[in-house]
Amino acid sequence: MLIAGNWKMNLDMPAARQLAGSIRNNLEDPGQVQVVLCPPFAYLDAVYGLVHGSPVSVGAQNMHAEESGAFTGEISASMLRSVGCSHVILGHSERRQYFGETDASVRDKVAQALRHGLVPVVCVGESLKERDAGRAEKVVSDQIRGALEGIEYPGKGRLVVAYEPVWAIGTGRTASPGEAQAIHAHIRSELATLFNAGDAAHINILYGGSMKPENADALLSEPDIDGGLIGGASLQAESFLAIVRAAMRA
Ligand code: PEP
Repeated sequence: MLIAGNWKMNLDMPAARQLAGSIRNNLEDPGQVQVVLCPPFAYLDAVYGLVHGSPVSVGAQNMHAEESGAFTGEISASMLRSVGCSHVILGHSERRQYFGETDASVRDKVAQALRHGLVPVVCVGESLKERDAGRAEKVVSDQIRGALEGIEYPGKGRLVVAYEPVWAIGTGRTASPGEAQAIHAHIRSELATLFNAGDAAHINILYGGSMKPENADALLSEPDIDGGLIGGASLQAESFLAIVRAAMRA
């Protein structure tokens, strides 16, 4: 199980420090549950400094696929490693929608992240229009293949997928546990054809989209839901930790 908090473009430095500190101080031993905080780039170093030595890891929300060079405003995999990141979210639907990310650019970033020992959290998910047209599985399959085709299985725990139906992100509307489970099982079968069934069984597939303490138990008890990527509910230590506790129970 893995619970990751995507803070998006929120908080100032004092608030980021307070949130990270409060999560670290109030987290009971999470056992088998990995806990990852993904603050904005500007706070990575500070958040890492606060959680280093605790069970909490740090991830970034994006990165560039190139090694270094004239890419103003961008950040590289080795930079993220140098400030303590272990994970990086790639292909979030907001990146696809507002910043022109494509499956091909996500694939380049996945390859680069893996070269540098970062665990990519590859986001996929259909829009409401695509779901209503009965195309959710096809859309998600295309995104999985587009992002991972030709990538060698990096080993247990080295690759994470997040299913985030676009219509459930930040809307308060959540996929029902059954709806989410059906797509998660489909994603796992796609991963089994790309790698093999044994390896696919060890890839954490997270659900993201208005996960909160009230619905976390039901979602996380589904067999193919291996954790959550949490947006809004990750901005309060109390609600984030309640989701971590739900993962510990699952
Ligand atoms: C997200 O954007 O990754 C997300 C899951 O957001 P929220 O929990 O706010 O829907």
